[in-house]
Amino acid sequence: MRIVLFGPPGSGKGTQASILKEKYGAAHISTGDTLREAVANKTEVGLKAKEYMEKGELVPDEVVIAIAKDKLASVGGEGFLLDGFPRTIAQAEALDAALAEIAKPLDAVVNLEVDDEELVKRLSGRRVCPGCGEPYHVDTKAPKVEGKCDKCGGDLVHRADDQPDAIRNRLKVYNNQTAPVLGYYGEKGILKNIDAVGAIADIQAKIAKALGA
Ligand SMILES: [Zn+2]
Repeated sequence: MRIVLFGPPGSGKGTQASILKEKYGAAHISTGDTLREAVANKTEVGLKAKEYMEKGELVPDEVVIAIAKDKLASVGGEGFLLDGFPRTIAQAEALDAALAEIAKPLDAVVNLEVDDEELVKRLSGRRVCPGCGEPYHVDTKAPKVEGKCDKCGGDLVHRADDQPDAIRNRLKVYNNQTAPVLGYYGEKGILKNIDAVGAIADIQAKIAKALGA
């Protein structure tokens, strides 16, 4: 299984990625982790990436792609699950070329769809304990005493990032950024849009059906 997984913040992408990884044995490749790994292992491209990171600059596409390519080439027959990449059409084209070179083309691009207002509801319910870092949610993981951390008794906070307006902004940025890339894969006929509202197991079943797995 060789897939790219897309999903806005709050769509449950991380949860579905770990289930897919578990179920099919595919390697979960997140670009952030892969980049950090290459830097830590001091590979040739890792050292190049480090130069940019140290200057506080964005790592250019060709370096990110070289790192992704190294990683993808090392993946076995179980395949991979790409997460957080590609972010642009240029990256998607480069990824296609790299995968063609190693004869491992993409099987599908899975896009988890959740209505923006539902995401705002989910994300704005988050609370966190600044003392111990324990996360809460007003609907799905409420503390025993309102506003207080179960673990350390600290006062829970509603982070600025989790305020509705900030979330709407983040979703707008996400949608603007991913729309062209999704369009690109749509034209290739490998885009699978999944309605990602509902129980985790039901969503997983929809993904499995779309993948024909
Ligand atoms: Zn706490």
